[in-house]
Amino acid sequence: MHAIQNQHCDPACNRLEDRELVGCPRAFAKTSCGRAMIVLALAWGGHDALADPSREAAESQLRRFAGQHIVLFTDLPATASLEELPRVVDQAVPQWAAYFGVPPAKAAKWRLTGYIMRDRAWFSQVGLLPADLPPFPEGYQRDDRFWLVEQPSEYYRRHLLLHEATHGFADWVRLGVGSPWFREGTAEFLATHRWHQQRLTLGFFPRQREEVPEWGRIKLIRDAIAAGRRRGAREVMLTDLKAYPSTEVYAWSWGLSMFLERHPRYREPLRQWRSEAFSDSTSKSHALIKGNLKGDSHAMDPLETRYDGAFRELEEEWRLFVDDLEYGYEIENHAIEFVASRPLPAGGAEAVVQANRGWQSTGYRLAAGERYRLTAKGRFQIAQSAADDSGSTGPTPWWSEPQGVTIRYHRGQPLGMLLAAMWDEKPQAEGADEPAWHAPQPIGAGALLVPTRSGSLYLLLNDSPAERSANRGEVQVRIEPD
Ligand SMILES: [Zn+2]
Repeated sequence: MHAIQNQHCDPACNRLEDRELVGCPRAFAKTSCGRAMIVLALAWGGHDALADPSREAAESQLRRFAGQHIVLFTDLPATASLEELPRVVDQAVPQWAAYFGVPPAKAAKWRLTGYIMRDRAWFSQVGLLPADLPPFPEGYQRDDRFWLVEQPSEYYRRHLLLHEATHGFADWVRLGVGSPWFREGTAEFLATHRWHQQRLTLGFFPRQREEVPEWGRIKLIRDAIAAGRRRGAREVMLTDLKAYPSTEVYAWSWGLSMFLERHPRYREPLRQWRSEAFSDSTSKSHALIKGNLKGDSHAMDPLETRYDGAFRELEEEWRLFVDDLEYGYEIENHAIEFVASRPLPAGGAEAVVQANRGWQSTGYRLAAGERYRLTAKGRFQIAQSAADDSGSTGPTPWWSEPQGVTIRYHRGQPLGMLLAAMWDEKPQAEGADEPAWHAPQPIGAGALLVPTRSGSLYLLLNDSPAERSANRGEVQVRIEPD
């Protein structure tokens, strides 16, 4: 059975019965439904309620769940996770308003209607799924309505609903500005959420796969890289809208949005650009992204200009992020400070490497072909063993020295091991700067380093990018000509 028959009230009154705005006493409903429909249309601000009685009739055959901001229709049996979806959206609205810079009083007026479809063909037959919508595998939003195909996990159903509702909210704010990757990346970034004890957090970076069943964005990026389809940040920004039915493209858009939103140096230009594009219709950003939407999707995204002068660094950090991507990746702790380096003094120099940070510049420039001796000392906390099951002992810190601990490995090297890489501040030739971080040299407690090219020396204590924040301490590294 794809439709649920209404037992007790006609369509308009049944809708009203569920709505706190008006209420629908049965006796009143039986005699005055025409009037009730008018009240409904005014209360909801909907233009379709009166204009399309066939839609009302079709909707009346479905289960209906409503909140302050959303009304959902579905042919699925009622479950707790379906019934709570309006509460999820109602909690999302203030978070969207804060993100898009919309005053709460304005956001309070926003409304959306959604259909969650088990039997898609039935929705087509009764006209609830318009024939002029483009084909879509999972979900689609247009104006104040969206359509979702039922999903195998409650998380992913909620995720897609939040994705389409984010589009609905953004469109309502400013007619859906944004280049394709920005629109989809923003919707994916915000829709990736945590719903725990009836509390919603949007823009959540999942810490483990079990938190986001069927989501799969991290696996899609990893698989794409393994298959030779790594995308640069610029490439993601210029992705054509036509590529969008591919879930892999959504994964890349999520990744870039998340990376920029969390990175301490790149998030502020993004926030400024968003604020200008959404709030100032006379701005260049707004004009350009509207042109971009009209089909000129290969035009340079104006967001990119906000990173002028830093794009090479951005691409490097993006590549480090996607190559090492895992659940719980701590983007903030892996932001690299690119500092102008100076030549290593003849007598050598010291550098300090923090255990809770990613790649760190020593500030010294080394020359290709020269021999350098690196010696490291220090003791730092690299991980914690889990708390004892009995609760008698808490988490126990693991201590490491620069040679690392061989109980655990990350990317083929012991956890805690000191690694070295060179970064050319000014690449000598186009394509000559294949990044060194991706095949760093193990240093451990000490090693000879002979750079194959000149550049700044960067150091790192090896660890999972999802576990940096638990680390404490540092090592001192002596760098000397050999
Ligand atoms: Zn979308």
